[in-house]
Amino acid sequence: MGAIKNARHPFYNHCDEALDRIRHAGRYRTFTPLSRQAEHFPVYEEERQDISGTRDVVVWSTNDYLGMGVVPEVQEAAIEAVRMHGAGTGGTRNIAGTSPLHNQLEAELAALHGKEAGLLFISGYVSNQASLQTILTSMPGWICFSDQLNHASMIAGIKGARGSQTVIFAHNDLADLEAKLAAAPADAPKLIAFESVYSMDGDIADIAGICALARRYGALTYLDEVHAVGLYGAEGGGVSQRDGVADEVDIIEGTLAKGFGVHGGYITASATIVDFLRSTASGFIFTTSLPPCVVGAALASVRKVRAENWRREALFERVNAFRHKLRAAGVPFTMTPSHIVPIPVGDAERCKRISRRLLNEFGHYATPINYPTVPEGTERLRLTPGPFHTDEMMDDMVRALGILLREEGVIPALEAAGQA
Ligand code: PMP
Repeated sequence: MGAIKNARHPFYNHCDEALDRIRHAGRYRTFTPLSRQAEHFPVYEEERQDISGTRDVVVWSTNDYLGMGVVPEVQEAAIEAVRMHGAGTGGTRNIAGTSPLHNQLEAELAALHGKEAGLLFISGYVSNQASLQTILTSMPGWICFSDQLNHASMIAGIKGARGSQTVIFAHNDLADLEAKLAAAPADAPKLIAFESVYSMDGDIADIAGICALARRYGALTYLDEVHAVGLYGAEGGGVSQRDGVADEVDIIEGTLAKGFGVHGGYITASATIVDFLRSTASGFIFTTSLPPCVVGAALASVRKVRAENWRREALFERVNAFRHKLRAAGVPFTMTPSHIVPIPVGDAERCKRISRRLLNEFGHYATPINYPTVPEGTERLRLTPGPFHTDEMMDDMVRALGILLREEGVIPALEAAGQA
């Protein structure tokens, strides 16, 4: 007994070695502690050792795309819900953890997407993982056609569905998807899993085209609208709403944590599918339900976002203004059909260095996006300007990027390659 207790378990050595490899590859993760200042969003406070104090930083990498998390009515709804109902729910949905607020939010989300029913999960990650794993283990012989760039949470659900088969199709490539659908046995149950806005490249799927293929080959469609809900469509119902094809998608999944600025995930679908998942998805059943403050705030946020189209207009006005300023200053960026503005860098160390210098020397924060989130050689800064970024902030950021991308050799390299 004693000998076993005193010996170092081999897992500790495994961790040391794995961490060494990660460090060596320049992929060791460090988090920059920034505290959001609700009244001054997108200005955050950064604690700094060098000045033994704090200083203001403008953040360009928030997924609270519309700034809904700091809208006073949304904050008040959270405070009110805590006062009324307490800090937590004290149970799973089944065990005294369903309040009228949960039911109202599910109904609101179903209405947003024009579906019969909605189902809340504790995060967008869990909604994907739990729903896909449960569906793909429900009947024998499922084949899941999964876009090559699907998010880790969808992959977790698909991989976790033992007994099902996975066919990966080339990203947003309908010809490849069709060839793969045609090659599969006609009588196998099929599901196509894809996203609308792909958050790292900022490109958008042809939802109508994928749904047409799904009809032709008898496949169910599962669409992740995490980076689109709140932002696209007349009421923020996502790209499927904007394109008028929400009816054709079987299951629309979303988050309350990005465009709605709060927390939590959900799916909307037919009453039958929602009822089935409500009764069988482990990740829905066996976890404490979302706390009242989150549900209350999310309900207030979804209602506001649905009604206030000016928030979406303001977002895209600012995104366009930012692109205009980048172009005028000769700062390279990737043009996308979405609100996402990637700045290509192409090297992990350089990308981290530019991000660090941007923060230390200029007081702007943009997350470096490195492998494995994106393929090696395509490292980038991913910027998400929003309604709250002023012209002055933009001008200062564009100036800083121009200086750093020149000094760090990104612009000279593009110029040499004839791309700038
Ligand atoms: N799907 C996609 C495409 C995502 O990017 C993310 C999170 N970044 C999720 C799902 C998970 O959503 P959440 O943050 O609400 O867990």
